[in-house]
Order: sequence, then C-alpha cells, then structure tokens
Amino acid sequence: MIIGATSSLFFLPTNRISATIICASFGALGGLILDIDTRKSKGAVLFRTVKKAVELLLALALIAILLGKEKDFFRVFDSWNWWNVICLASLFLLYWYGSTTPHRSFTHSIEFVILNTFLLYFLPNLFLCAFLIGELSHIVLDLFNKKHVTLSVLFRIKVSLNLASADGIVDRTLSFLGIVGLVILFVKTLFS
Ligand SMILES: [Zn+2]
Repeated sequence: MIIGATSSLFFLPTNRISATIICASFGALGGLILDIDTRKSKGAVLFRTVKKAVELLLALALIAILLGKEKDFFRVFDSWNWWNVICLASLFLLYWYGSTTPHRSFTHSIEFVILNTFLLYFLPNLFLCAFLIGELSHIVLDLFNKKHVTLSVLFRIKVSLNLASADGIVDRTLSFLGIVGLVILFVKTLFS
C-alpha cells in the first residue's frame, strides 16, 4: 500500500496538492487491491465492506421488485451511464473471483491488471495511472518474495526471485523506505 502510494507520486510528479492526494490514494488502492486473495489483508477487508454494500443494494432492489415499486427504485439510477454500471458490476465480479483464488496467483497476473484497468476506463487519466502504478509496484515487490508470483495465468509464467520472506526484514525495510519517500514527496509538493 505504502509503496503503491510512493511509486505513484514518484512516477507522476506534480506540484498540485490535490493531484498529490489523488496519486497517493489511488496508488495505495492499486497496491491494496491485489491482495484480495488473502483473507486478512487490508484489500480483502475493503472488498468485503464493498461486498456487504452491494448485497444490501441487491436486497433493497429485490424488496422493491416484490412490492412492485421497481420503477421508483431504479429511477435513482436513471442519470447513470449504463456502460459504466456494467463495467462496475464486471469489476465487482472480477474482484469476487480474485478473492477466491490462491494467494499471488490470478490477482497478481498481468491479465488481472489489464482487465482491471480496462474496466476502470471511465476514471480520469491521473486516477487510472496512479492505480496502475500502485498495482505494478505491488507485483514487482512481491517478485522478491520466496513464494512465486503468477505473472501470467494464460502463459503459466511463475516467478520468484527468492530474496525475501513476507513480513521479513526486507519487507519491513522497504515499507519504512516507502514511508520516508512518501513524506519527502509530499513535502516537496508543498514547497514547490
Ligand atoms: Zn501481493
């Protein structure tokens, strides 16, 4: 998450504080989301919260249909672009499927990143680029781990540089350096 935020700020330098916050937040989100395949990760917790909200919405839609009030209910969505709604629904299904796959497999593959980016096409470029950098930095970092990363599901490419273990000294050092880098880049924006 931290490395995602720091990498996005590093690769998308800006002197606007709003853009800095967007970059750091979407970079962090991109970094978080890949670990939805681990139950205890922050990404998985975040996804479960979104899942509960979606379930509530579906339950409300069902009640509205049963009461014959569906026109009233769906009127709320009249102003929505239905293509975006389809993309968001597909994104939800992609994350849902990702959360059921083994750790560092499908959600860490280039196919997942491509699908994810495609389904978020409606986001402004800065948001999307920061998100993408967050995802890619997460994958690069995981490559150093002892457990292999499935870089491609289609081509069955699995890579491990076998240099560090999760939550080991290398991981903690990188997180620390990430925080230092993030602070430096924030301060640089403030005074530029
Ligand atoms: Zn990971």
